Amino acid sequence: MCPHCRGYLKVGDCIVFKIRNTRREKGLLMMHQEGDNYSGVKHPLFYSEEGERIDFFCPICMQSLDASLDENLVQVIMIDSSGYEQKIYFSRIAGEHSTYQVSSIDLIQYLDI
Ligand SMILES: [Zn+2]
Repeated sequence: MCPHCRGYLKVGDCIVFKIRNTRREKGLLMMHQEGDNYSGVKHPLFYSEEGERIDFFCPICMQSLDASLDENLVQVIMIDSSGYEQKIYFSRIAGEHSTYQVSSIDLIQYLDI
């Protein structure tokens, strides 16, 4: 969920973000977990170069999801099946493209609140 409005970002198995690249093009990103990594699916015309810094926003309240501890990380709150909250950080640097519309985003670390 969003750390600002506590709106639910999860749809099915995916987490939905509003994203913006350095050319100020905007899109939506759906991320789902694949093992230790999260893969993102976005519109094929939303282009990000490897190493590009992508801005992540909550699609509900439109606030930036930048993590306060590191400007290269994005922060969301996950609630596990027992109701326990975890802060989860993702790198906001665009990663390797496995296909033209999927980019992978590494899960940096889990931190307990
Ligand atoms: Zn929000």
